[in-house]
Amino acid sequence: MALKLVSRSQWGARAYRTPGGATLYSGKRRGIKLHYLGTPYSDRPHTQCSAYIRQIQAQHMDGNGWSDIGYSFAVCTHGSVYEGRGLRRRNSANGSTSLNEQDYAILLLVGSSGLTKPTDVQLDGARDAIDYVRREGPAGTWLGGHRDGYATSCPGDAVYAWAKKGALRPSASTTIPPKEDDVSLTSTQAKQLADLHKTLVPYAGWGYKGSNEKVDAYGYLRGTKADIAKLATQVTALTAAVNKLAQLAGSDVDTEQVVAAVEKAIADAVVKVDVDITSTPIQES
Ligand SMILES: [Zn+2]
Ligand SMILES: [Zn+2]
Repeated sequence: MALKLVSRSQWGARAYRTPGGATLYSGKRRGIKLHYLGTPYSDRPHTQCSAYIRQIQAQHMDGNGWSDIGYSFAVCTHGSVYEGRGLRRRNSANGSTSLNEQDYAILLLVGSSGLTKPTDVQLDGARDAIDYVRREGPAGTWLGGHRDGYATSCPGDAVYAWAKKGALRPSASTTIPPKEDDVSLTSTQAKQLADLHKTLVPYAGWGYKGSNEKVDAYGYLRGTKADIAKLATQVTALTAAVNKLAQLAGSDVDTEQVVAAVEKAIADAVVKVDVDITSTPIQES
């Protein structure tokens, strides 16, 4: 995704009350806090989004008496990223001066009722904004919500859960539609499987008879040598399937083709596994 940045002049921002704008950050920030509106919100055509951001700015300046809109950036439901205080300026949204000093503040235009769940393009836009702020702020990788360290429900459960799971793009967590066996894996699960495989494979070839710590390794896994070998090979099969899936995901192949390729990869790996188990003794050290 490319960042769809809407500059202050593009959305018709009022000038900062303080000449020169809010206090400048001295350097890199810890990370980013996400926010929601905390009021009812209903989705609207994108042509009305700039006016809505101007309305927030007016509330913050005229109602709260702040020098500017409180947020660093704001992301509408159509994925556009509105420049609030922008880069390198202290926001006033996180609850206190020290909290504002600590992290940038990004608002997602979702409400406490009405539209409460961010749209997919909005999450992509928020991800773009996070990457942009981390790179250009700069800011570290800490990511959370207004509620971290401050008594508020902001940014709402949906946005908060998304942040705490790593703010993944919706496309990254989309699963292949299930077919027959109902097997579908996210990229995260694929990585976990691959890591598990890396962890288990060395044990499969380790000594079984000795009295050293290698025995403990088997004990820890609570299995016989054959059990461990079987487990490792099952993981190998799944990993092969997952790797195949990962290669295909993201390209424009149709689902039938993906499923067929995955099923073949599993079959290939399982055949290889059967041969390994029955005809090749597990190496002992
Ligand atoms: Zn907030
Ligand atoms: Zn919009």
